[in-house]
Amino acid sequence: MLRYDEAREIVTQQASLRPHALTTCKLGVGEVLGYVLAEEIRADREYPPFDRSTRDGFAVRASEAAAGAKLPCVGEIKAGDSVTLPLAAGSCVQIMTGAAVPPGADAVVMIEFTSRDGDAVEFQRATLPGQNVVPRGSEAHAGDAVLRPGLRLGYAELAIAAQVGATQLLCACKPRVAILSTGDEVVPFSETPGPFHIRNSNSISLAAQVRIAGGEPVLLGNAMDRSDELGAKIEQGLREDVLVLSGGVSMGKYDLVESVLQAMGAEFFFDAVAIRPGRPTVFARCRDTFVFGLPGNPVSTMVTFHLFVVPALDLLSGAPARPLPLLEATLAEPMKEKPGLTHFLPARVEWRGESAGVRPLSWQGSGYIAALSGANCFLVFPADRQDIAAGEKVSVLPRMDVL
Ligand code: AMP
Ligand code: MG
Repeated sequence: MLRYDEAREIVTQQASLRPHALTTCKLGVGEVLGYVLAEEIRADREYPPFDRSTRDGFAVRASEAAAGAKLPCVGEIKAGDSVTLPLAAGSCVQIMTGAAVPPGADAVVMIEFTSRDGDAVEFQRATLPGQNVVPRGSEAHAGDAVLRPGLRLGYAELAIAAQVGATQLLCACKPRVAILSTGDEVVPFSETPGPFHIRNSNSISLAAQVRIAGGEPVLLGNAMDRSDELGAKIEQGLREDVLVLSGGVSMGKYDLVESVLQAMGAEFFFDAVAIRPGRPTVFARCRDTFVFGLPGNPVSTMVTFHLFVVPALDLLSGAPARPLPLLEATLAEPMKEKPGLTHFLPARVEWRGESAGVRPLSWQGSGYIAALSGANCFLVFPADRQDIAAGEKVSVLPRMDVL
C-alpha cells in the first residue's frame, strides 16, 4: 500500500499535467486575498522614492558629526515634507522617521544619542556615513518585479500590490470543486434526520476546506447508494475541475463510488493509502476532471482532504503544491497504536513559551464531534511505531483554518 507521501507525490504529478489551460480574471486588489497571481507586478518608481530616514533624529554630514562635535540645528523635516534645499555645510536639521534626507546630508543620528542646548546639537557618538538612511531605489528600482506569477496572495502581497499602485491584478480563476456526499443514511443538514439517518456535515466541512485551500466549492448535495443516482450526480460533478466525493469507497456492498467511476471510464491512480483514518481514499481522473473519493467518516474526510486534495488545488491554481507544514511537538501522554499505518489523530497543540506540547483527543470512544471541537491539529503517529512515550517528539499537522 502507498505511504501518504507517495500518494501525495502521485497527486502532484498528475495535477501538474493540468488538463486545461489556466483561466484568469482581473480583480481589484481588495478582492484577491487567497487567489494566485497570474502576472508579474513591477515597481512603478524607485523604492524608496527618496533617501529616507529610518529614525527620529538629526540629518548631518557624517564627517561633521564626530563624537563631541556640535552643530547648529537650522530647521526640521517631517514625513511628507517636500525637500529640495541642500543641508548647508556645518549645520544639521531635525528629521523624523520616514522623512526625506536633504541633499548633502549622508547620515541621521538618533535623537537618543544627542543633547541639545538651544539651537546647538551635541553628538555623543561617532557617526558613520549612510547610518539610518535608506537610499533612494535601494528596495526596488522602477520596473523591478515585486510580485511574480504563481504567488498566492496573502495580506503582505496585497500591501506590496497596493504600494506600487497595482489596483487591478490578473489572477488565476479559482479551481471549481464539485462536492458530492453519498449514503442512504445522509439527509441535508437543514432537515431533521430520522432515527437512523444522519445530517450531511461532510458537504459543509468540505466546502469550507475548499474555500480555505483556494478553490470554489460547487455543492451537489447527496447521492443515494444506487449506481444510477450516483452516476447521474458524478456526471454533474465532471463539469468541474475537481470532484470530491465523501463516503462509498470502502468494501461494503453499497460502496459504489469506484465501480460507478470505473463504468464511466475513470483512470485510477490509487484507491488505498497506508493511513488511518482515510485508508480507502481514491484518486482518479475521469475525462478532464480529477476525482477524489474520500471515506465518509468525518475525520477521515477532513484528513484526506488536507493530505491529498489541497496540493491538487494549488497546482490547478497555477501555484506550486504547498508542502505539509508539519510542526514538532512534545507528546504530553503516552500513546499506543497498531503499527503499519500512519495515524493522523485529532489533537491539541499548545505552546508554553517557545516549546509546543501536544495531547491527542480521544475520538474513537467518545464520538467525533466532541473530540474535534478543540482539535487544532492532527498528530502524526508514524507507521513504524507502536508505543510513543510521554516527552518524545512527534510531528503534528496544523489545521489550516485555526492554526
Ligand atoms: P462510508 O465511508 O460511506 O462507509 O461512511 C462511513 C461513515 O461516515 C458513515 O457510516 C457515516 O456515519 C459517516 N458519514 C458518511 N457520509 C457522511 C456525511 N455526508 N456527513 C457526515 N457523516 C457522514
Ligand atoms: Mg456510505
